Amino acid sequence: MTETDEEVIILRPHHLLCTQGYSGNGYSPEFVEHMNDVVERLRHGDDRIKITFSTDTLCSCCPNKLGENKCVSQDKVKWFDDKVIEYFGIEEKEYRYREIIKEIDGKMTDGMMDDICMRCSWYPVSACRKNIMSNK
Ligand code: SF4
Ligand code: SF4
Repeated sequence: MTETDEEVIILRPHHLLCTQGYSGNGYSPEFVEHMNDVVERLRHGDDRIKITFSTDTLCSCCPNKLGENKCVSQDKVKWFDDKVIEYFGIEEKEYRYREIIKEIDGKMTDGMMDDICMRCSWYPVSACRKNIMSNK
């Protein structure tokens, strides 16, 4: 399959961070299998993405998705998205994943990281902070 045949990956803003800390843990076996494929492509393959302020490609295989733009943890995930939009000026448009995460990580501070992720249960146990803060 050529690069142009592949569908653009849709990501919601805070998943620009989560995909960097991801290391094989998730909400269900199906979610993990799908996440592995998406993250592998983002990190090493065709990295065209389109940002949406709604549920995305990763949500599509998540048991916490209740419907279009509806997550079990709606308030919390919208908070994460809003913070990423606010801090990094993210818009609903196409980006190159590896370019935009480089830009985000270059601007990220410890204070911003805490502000965005403090309410996430993965934060104390994931590689998110380490990976993002070391990608300067
Ligand atoms: S701590 Fe949670 S919200 Fe923050 S990047 Fe990691 S998984 Fe995403
Ligand atoms: S449905 Fe909710 S918990 Fe699942 S990946 Fe999407 S935002 Fe995260």
